[in-house]
Amino acid sequence: MGFGFAGWVQRHREGERIGMKSTAIVLAGGNGSRMNSGVAKQYLELKGRPVIFYSLNVFEHCPFIDEIVLVTRAEDIDFCRAEIVGKYDFRKVKKIVAGGKERFQSVCRGLRASAPCDIVYIHDGARPFVTGEILERARADVGACGACAVGMPVKDTIKISDEEGFCADTPDRSLIWQIQTPQVFDFDLICRAHERLNERLRAGEELSVTDDAMVVEKMTDVKVKLTLGDYRNIKITTPEDLALAELFAGGLQIL
Ligand code: C5P
Repeated sequence: MGFGFAGWVQRHREGERIGMKSTAIVLAGGNGSRMNSGVAKQYLELKGRPVIFYSLNVFEHCPFIDEIVLVTRAEDIDFCRAEIVGKYDFRKVKKIVAGGKERFQSVCRGLRASAPCDIVYIHDGARPFVTGEILERARADVGACGACAVGMPVKDTIKISDEEGFCADTPDRSLIWQIQTPQVFDFDLICRAHERLNERLRAGEELSVTDDAMVVEKMTDVKVKLTLGDYRNIKITTPEDLALAELFAGGLQIL
């Protein structure tokens, strides 16, 4: 399936464009049900600051990020404005918008709220340990390929299970990556991929979407580059992740 992307794919192959405008969409629209806590995981405290503070702080201080769109639950918008964006003076946060039921719907709302730009960095607010180095690597890869997803090669052997819980297959470990965020795209590409996804969902197709790279993989013919992230770039999902995060946060230097 082609969308006439050949033109811009060529542009990306020619190398990084000068004067590109980049937006970060930081997602905090989930309810964190696996955390077993009354507070959504992105607002839990980590070394005295909310989890979401850490990634917003990295994007705020990143010289090649121009704007940030924060996506949260409708009921958390006022809290975010006062207690996060206002309190920590995150000046690049230009919009705070309500997310959707599923993560991809929150992304879609973030894209719609973004001012036109060239590159968009989509990041889980529940991943506090994104770094400037990861953003640099993603910037280089999106400049060359138009789409990239940060991740790490897996350390464990991965098994595919059958329906009864028995091993059905053991894929070659050397080719398997665990995917993190940010996932970074040419803005037009990810917008068109989401449009196409919405058309297909409206037409009644059942599609399960767990990350942004998948939308591009399934809806376009553009290949998504895998960019080296960091094993510390964890997503806080369950209580043991928070304990690990406390440990990692102890070694952080806050800008
Ligand atoms: O649920 P999951 O762990 O995959 O969420 C990853 C990120 O996406 C979290 O930062 C969460 O707040 C966000 N999210 C969202 N809207 C949803 C679901 C998740 O913004 N409907």
